[in-house]
Amino acid sequence: MLQKNQILTAAITDLNNLGFGVAKIDGISVFVADTVTGDIAEIKIIKTAKTYAVGTLCTLITPSPMRAPEHEVCGAAKRCGGNRCGGCVYQRITYAHELALKKQYVTFAMKKAGAQHIKVLDVLTTGQTAAYRNKAQYPVGTEILDGEKHTVIGFYAVKTHKIVPLPNGHCALQPPIFSEIVRFTAHFCDTHQISAYDETSGNGILRHLYLRMGSKTGEILVCLVINADTFPHADDFCKSLIAEFPQVKSIQVNQNRQNTNVILGNTCCVLWGSDAIEDILCGKVFRISQLSFYQVNRDGAELLYHTAKTLLQLQPREALLDLYCGIGTIGLSVADTDTPLVGIEIIPQAVENAKENAKRNGMKNARFFCGDASDAKQILHNLQMHADAVIVDPPRKGLTPAVIAYLGELTPKRIVYISCDADTLARDIMRFAEYGYHTDTTQPVDMFSRTGHVECVALLTKK
Ligand code: SAH
Repeated sequence: MLQKNQILTAAITDLNNLGFGVAKIDGISVFVADTVTGDIAEIKIIKTAKTYAVGTLCTLITPSPMRAPEHEVCGAAKRCGGNRCGGCVYQRITYAHELALKKQYVTFAMKKAGAQHIKVLDVLTTGQTAAYRNKAQYPVGTEILDGEKHTVIGFYAVKTHKIVPLPNGHCALQPPIFSEIVRFTAHFCDTHQISAYDETSGNGILRHLYLRMGSKTGEILVCLVINADTFPHADDFCKSLIAEFPQVKSIQVNQNRQNTNVILGNTCCVLWGSDAIEDILCGKVFRISQLSFYQVNRDGAELLYHTAKTLLQLQPREALLDLYCGIGTIGLSVADTDTPLVGIEIIPQAVENAKENAKRNGMKNARFFCGDASDAKQILHNLQMHADAVIVDPPRKGLTPAVIAYLGELTPKRIVYISCDADTLARDIMRFAEYGYHTDTTQPVDMFSRTGHVECVALLTKK
């Protein structure tokens, strides 16, 4: 039996997708931060439970060959305890090993759901492991330095809402300009005495700084999420921001006055510039509003959509249904200009973007509707349309049984399922089997290097 405070030598045999090394001791899993598969380490047990234990690293006796060089590890991940950023759970291992782990994770998800017959392919990647993100939502807080209050804009420390500054002022996953805008905004708040929102009291103004960039066009949207009707000194802020960062095309505020973990409220208004930015993806132009979904890794999205297109094998004149379509990126990228295309999406701004995007890119037969995915039946019925092929790209919770049942009845020839959660994908693949749809393979695509997330694509066909 493991005891709290016990010190022992352990062989780390696994690394979970929360970034903890795992050792099997006396038949139970011991989770040890800062260790990776292949390490031999002296560890101290700090918590014991019935089915697992938690340890901390005391001494690394033999480092694993899968370890990334120490100088590559981000300063924020090396911080102690409550100050540690928990974003990049895989940064202590080589990228090759990260990809192997992601494949293993998807394979395990399939097995758990009873879909072990599905072959999981090697993870596809653009190879980009830094500066790939085009969106950041930084929480804003206050820190006391030398007895003086300062605005801190950074990230939440792991498992807390304590805001820790960016390591050396920069997060490696973001483009460098984001860190410059973070610095600019923190300085502006300090010099204009604009308070940071305080979760406990519900007082204070600036809650989050939300940045989004069109990676190809360079256009930047800056949004101040505020707990107030207006942002003080807004004109000054806009003037000096655009003078320093000419790439900024849109400055907006989003009002969020609720005491909630949800970052964005429903009301936004433009302080300066356009109400949206543009990016180029798969050779097409896309307009992206503040509240619309857009893949955070643009180059990864091209790889993902290319994979989806290859699997879909859309034939001339075949009709396509793009469910959970966002701003229409997937459907508009895989379809021809005359493909009958229907996209359905729940966020109204995204649907407006999708309609404009269809027009901009000369997609003559594309139509987009605002609604829940389960409205697809009524929408297609009203249009008197049958879908030969379907793409679904739901949020993590996957598809509801009702949506699967409807698609089962619709009997498209091919369904391409894009998923950011291998567990719900595996579950839904099993549910689709009840309607005669099968898949032989799942293709993981690494859109979120260094983090524990992996995207998957699967083609379902009726035998
Ligand atoms: N296919 C798009 C968006 C995928 S993200 C792309 O690749 O860019 C999932 C999308 O589903 C989001 O735009 C989200 O707003 C939308 N969504 C979430 N729940 C939904 C629902 N119940 N019905 C329809 N769309 C939904």
